[in-house]
Amino acid sequence: MTLTEHTNDFSEVIENDRAHVWHHISQHKRYETVDPMVIIEGKGMNVWDAKGKKYLDAVSGGVWTVNVGYGRETIADAVREQLVKLNYFANSAGSIPGANFAKSLIDKMPGMSRVYYSNSGSEANEKAYKIVRQIAHNKYGGKKHKILYRDRDYHGTTITALSSTGQLQRKAQYGPFTPGFVEVPHCCEYRSQYGECDDYGIKAALAIEEVILCEGPDTVGAIVLEPITAGGGVITPPEGYWEKVQEICKKYDILLHIDEVVCGLGRTGKWFGYQHYGIKPDIVTMAKGVASGYAAISCTVTTEEVFNHFKNDPSDSMSYFRDISTFGGCTAGPAAALENMRIIEEENLLENVTRMGAYLIDRLYELKDKHQIVGDVRGKGLFCGVELVVDRDTKEPVHESITQAIVADCMSQGVIIGATNRSFTEFNNTLCLSPALICSKVELDEIVAAIDNALTKICS
Ligand code: PMP
Repeated sequence: MTLTEHTNDFSEVIENDRAHVWHHISQHKRYETVDPMVIIEGKGMNVWDAKGKKYLDAVSGGVWTVNVGYGRETIADAVREQLVKLNYFANSAGSIPGANFAKSLIDKMPGMSRVYYSNSGSEANEKAYKIVRQIAHNKYGGKKHKILYRDRDYHGTTITALSSTGQLQRKAQYGPFTPGFVEVPHCCEYRSQYGECDDYGIKAALAIEEVILCEGPDTVGAIVLEPITAGGGVITPPEGYWEKVQEICKKYDILLHIDEVVCGLGRTGKWFGYQHYGIKPDIVTMAKGVASGYAAISCTVTTEEVFNHFKNDPSDSMSYFRDISTFGGCTAGPAAALENMRIIEEENLLENVTRMGAYLIDRLYELKDKHQIVGDVRGKGLFCGVELVVDRDTKEPVHESITQAIVADCMSQGVIIGATNRSFTEFNNTLCLSPALICSKVELDEIVAAIDNALTKICS
């Protein structure tokens, strides 16, 4: 039975939530006058709240996670079957789903070789940084320890992951940060630092080289980049950018770490975002879509070359990777991930993402034709951003209250969309869409219609 078929009273749940749950990115004072939203149930692309209201979810669980949609019984069955057989054993030993998912994953990632399990995107990135730091110590006497990150990229919520994040507002009040992380400029062509030019991608990449030269190439061990910047405004890379970045990394012997926490597992129409751009990474991290939120799992994946730095004589107790993730040994994660991957393959979801993504972006361009407030439309696959501006010539971002009002209006129409958050970056003016990979034109039309209505109402 779903909420549409019966009406339970969830008022006690709402009161318990109001009294005791601390929600993320939320001003709780407002819950003194407004009920907190409590989601009770999900099926396909829809969720129901505790008051029985149905929503079409255009952001896959709010933070681009539920790639294969809600209510997947085969994932629940796979997890249950695994849990009654073996729920947990520390990752110093293997498990059936752990071994099998690693093999399936590596099959989708030519050039990559090893999978290290943990539980969140932040954690996966922290493991990657520890790998880089340990290589720096063991191979370069500690010198090549710096890690570059990009303005507007996000890499996680723990203090070190935040240290590698290029979003000032998100970092405010949480310092001091972990040393050894150095920022490089963003690559958002719409907000070009060089004015209009034909070779923006090359210029943006060369800006990274400038930082490397300034820091000293022998001090830089790695660079971490999102293939498409997500929370920083859905920034698709400019032409020529990735080829040049790869070339620069090679030139200075710098490891290329791609953060696929959002783009991974089909979001952009390929298994991984980096696979659109011919990138050959040394380290790839992933989380959200790995098991679509049916279990907590993240992976830090490396090449065999990176792994080999840690494979030494058994008597050497210092040169193996001395990291541990207790819950990286939970078997529910890889069991769910295996079934999640099987669904993506069996239902041809990568192909659906490519077709539906092309449709969605066309529909969003129609909004741009119709509404002056739409300054830019960007995206790849089912991962799109609509940047709102006061004036198309000056590109002045709209005030955050406008973006928030549009999100709220869509919500009242029963469509959940996302937006870059005012507590993350100075650019809090981008609407974000990342519907489940299963979506059809019917749902996309409903999402675009809601945004269209909201823009008409709020901006006219
Ligand atoms: N990297 C990116 C690109 C992300 O978008 C996020 C989360 N939004 C993270 C890392 C951190 O993941 P988690 O919240 O699972 O720690």
